[in-house]
This record gives sequence, structure tokens and C-alpha cells, in this order.
Amino acid sequence: MTQPIQQNTMTEIDRAGYDLIVVGTGPGGATVARDMALRGKKVLILEWGPGAPIRGNVAQGLTELMVPGRSILFTPQGLGLVRGITTGGSSLFYYACAWPVPLELFRRHGVDLTADAAAARAELPIAPLADRMMTPMALRLMAGARDAGLDWRKLDKNMVQDRWKPGHAFGYFGDVHGVKWSARMFVDEAVAYGAVLLNGAQVTRVLSERGCATGVEFVKGGQTRIASAERIVLAAGGIGSPLILRASGIREAGHDFFFDPLFTVCGTMKDLRLQDDEIPMSAGVHLEDEGYMMTDLPFPPLMHTLFSAQVGRLDKLFAYRSTARIMVKWKDALGGRLTDRGGVRKRLTAADKKIARHGFENARRVLRSAGATDIYRTWYLAAHPGGTVKIGHLVDADLKSPIDKLYVCDCSVIPEAWGLPPSLTLVALGKRLARYLAAGWSTGVPTVAALAGPTGAEVLQTQRQSAERVSALRRH
Ligand SMILES: Cc1cc2nc3c(=O)[nH]c(=O)nc-3n(C[C@H](O)[C@H](O)[C@H](O)COP(=O)(O)OP(=O)(O)OC[C@H]3O[C@@H](n4cnc5c(N)ncnc54)[C@H](O)[C@@H]3O)c2cc1C
Repeated sequence: MTQPIQQNTMTEIDRAGYDLIVVGTGPGGATVARDMALRGKKVLILEWGPGAPIRGNVAQGLTELMVPGRSILFTPQGLGLVRGITTGGSSLFYYACAWPVPLELFRRHGVDLTADAAAARAELPIAPLADRMMTPMALRLMAGARDAGLDWRKLDKNMVQDRWKPGHAFGYFGDVHGVKWSARMFVDEAVAYGAVLLNGAQVTRVLSERGCATGVEFVKGGQTRIASAERIVLAAGGIGSPLILRASGIREAGHDFFFDPLFTVCGTMKDLRLQDDEIPMSAGVHLEDEGYMMTDLPFPPLMHTLFSAQVGRLDKLFAYRSTARIMVKWKDALGGRLTDRGGVRKRLTAADKKIARHGFENARRVLRSAGATDIYRTWYLAAHPGGTVKIGHLVDADLKSPIDKLYVCDCSVIPEAWGLPPSLTLVALGKRLARYLAAGWSTGVPTVAALAGPTGAEVLQTQRQSAERVSALRRH
């Protein structure tokens, strides 16, 4: 799991002709790349970030998740928007909460994700945490929330729980134990099936002739290069994909988006200490009508210190072990714009601040009910940029852009304000797109009718067999 992914050389890249180029390796891109590679297509994956082995340490977190202007982008109000620039994208650093796919939302936009959501769930190790993985702090918060009248429940996690052992630190900065699923696992499988991964390749624009995509331009090691393929999938995330589309002539990309703002509310527990193996987002509640969710969210020591310092709580800088923490994350209204260089111009509105106040009060109530004192909140953050290339606006229900043979498959295509953990939805979208592309390949022109062809069972069986072969390969 932690082996470096094999990379092919530039010479091979230059010579080869590809069926498909996938740009970016988050849950959206990794899924399309992997599902197309195991269907025998020649896939080139271009990833801006590095692909060094997962070390899971602070240095990796700082260089791949917290570099200002690259992986952390600040709004004019000082809200930090984070994204992982690495193989696996933001999922390398995510909290592995597998929120169910909101099927009805997509149905409103002509996208039926039922079969693909089921296929994704069947392939991924999704389940609520086993009781042995729920720590005393997580259980205390759950009890406090329930006493406060909330339907606080265990959440689905995308984790290989059999691999977990007491004492395993959660992979906030990448998981060395391979317990937390990340999109890097799908990239790994894609490469095992013959896909070519090129790291350090920042795609700048899509090349097209007479309205049809023919390849991409990318910069690697200071050199501008070109790669060609029959079809292109942009999966550079909610910020990356709209910027590439803009540079390719689709100027409307990157407007009226969401980023699901959040903050955490902290309290001091006098009679309880955080363990080394706390798991974030183990349980929580979604208050849909009020537009926000709350979950437990223990932080590792460095993050605790940084977030306390940011709000001037110097007395709490080293009170990591005694801090109970709840995340409040809400559904912000669509708005704002990206600049051509990736600046995020979106402000929290009066409506946002009203939800935030409500969320803070409710989290405070839960913390008090759980026995915490000295309650304060941290500054705003966001980690789900999306809706920048919406279905029904800049891509159609098949994720096709106005440029023929160019598709988008990541958080950008989500068509409405969101407020949910998106990774499982993105895997489902990736599976649907792969199915769609594969169905149309022999005729040259994918059709919606082709989507009605073999789905779940047949494809799933092939995929399971392939996954077994990959596991066998790994064992040797
Ligand atoms: C700390 C944190 C915790 C989170 N917790 C959860 C959680 O518990 N559950 C959940 O569902 N979601 C969670 N998320 C959100 C989730 O990780 C993201 O929403 C998801 O990864 C987005 O997937 P994506 O495919 O849209 O893009 P990303 O995962 O952002 O991937 C985009 C990829 O494109 C690459 N890229 C960008 N620009 C270019 C370019 N020009 N050329 C080439 N490559 C490029 C990037 O390096 C990256 O690999 C969390 C996020 C963070 C940061």
C-alpha cells in the first residue's frame, strides 16, 4: 500500500498514443482511470502533485496540503480552502467519512446514480466503525449529544477496519497502515493494469481541433509538453478543472460555487484524555433542515496548536489531550468566482453567519452536556470546493463539456449547493462516466442509450476478479 507507484518515462509518454487522458487523481479521476484501465483501455494519468510513498508525517501534510497559493487558498475574509496536491488528491488527507450519495439531488438533473452508488459501496470497505474503534471521547460526545436531544449516530467510514489495531494513529497526513481508503489505492490499481502515471505534470489547457478535444498541454519540470488521446477527462478538482477549462476557452467556468465552510468548537474535558488512536468523524448528526452537520473531530497535536493560536487561545496551545472537539460544517449558498490564477473570491454571507451562529450554539450545548467547560471556536476553513462546472450548465448529464470528447468528473460538476462529504458521490460519478465511455467506445460515439447496457453485475464481476488479481500481484 505504501510502495511508490511505478512511473513511466517521458520518452514513453511522448511516443505513445492513448485512448484516454485523465487529469488529476482524486476520487473522481482515480475511479475513471482505474475502471477504464481494467477495461483494457490505454490510460495516461497526469497528476500535478508528487507520488512519493505515503509517510504519514507532518512534513508530508505541510508540503502536500498546506502550501499557501497551491494547496491552501485564502479568501478575502481569511477563510482557508484546503486541497491535497498529491497522488490521490484530497482523499490522501481526508477523514474517510463515506456519506451516502444523494440520489434525488442528481435525479433532479437527469443523472441516475443508483447502480453506480451501489457498485461503489460494494467495492469499497464502507461501514460504521466497529465498537472496538470507538474511543471514550467519541462515546462521551455521542452520549452528550443524545442527552441534548440529537440523533447523533455512528457514520459510515471508508476504512479497511480489519487492518486497524489499537494504537494506530489515524492517517491525517496519509495513512501508513493502509486502513483509510484513499483514491491512491485506485491509482495503484490503474497502474497495475497498465495505466501510465506521470507525476509533477500540471495541465494548463486542453487542445482541440474544430471543437473536438485532441490532447492537453502540461508543464513538467519547467518544460511545456503535449500529450494526445482520443478522449480527455478533467478531474483536477473543484478549483483545478475550471481553471483548465477557462484556459481552454470556456470562460464561464469557476463561478457561483460552494465550498462547505466549517469551524470546530472545542471544550475542555477534565476527566477524559484523547487517545493516540482517535478517529475523526466517527459519529455525528445531519440537521438537514437547518443546513449543517456536526461530528466529533479530534485533531492531532500540531493542528490543535495551530488552530488554537489562530484564535488567540494561547492558554490552550498544549491542551491537546483534554480537548473535546466538534466540527460544524454547513451548506453555503452558491456564489463567488475564481480568478484566472486560482484566487478564491467568495465571501461568507449574513445567511452563512446565521447558520454558523446556530451551529456554534448547538455544538456548545452538546459539549456542555458531555461535561466540557471553557468552550471556544476556531476560525473558518473549507475543504470541499465544488459546483464550479455544474451539470446542466457547463457539462451535460453525461459529464460532457461543450468541447467534444472532453469530460469533467470531480467535485466541480456537483449541480447544487452541497454541504456533505462528497468522496463516495465522486467515486459513483467516476464509475458512471467509465461505464458511459466504455459503452460508446466501439461505436465511436457514446450514447445515453448505451448506458442502459451491462452495469452493476457484469462490470462488478470483472472488477472483483481484477481486484483479486491485483491483490494476488501484491502478495507476490
Ligand atoms: C482535511 C480534509 C478532510 C476531508 N474529509 C472528508 C471526508 O471525511 N469525507 C469526504 O467525503 N470528503 C472529505 N474531504 C473532501 C474530499 O477529500 C474531496 O472532496 C475529494 O477528494 C474531492 O475529489 P476530487 O476528485 O474532486 O478532487 P481532489 O481530491 O482535490 O483531486 C484533484 C486532483 O487533481 C490534481 N490537480 C489539480 N490541478 C491539476 C492540474 N492543473 N494538472 C494536473 N493535476 C491537477 C490535484 O493534485 C489532485 O490530485 C476532506 C478533505 C480534506 C482536505
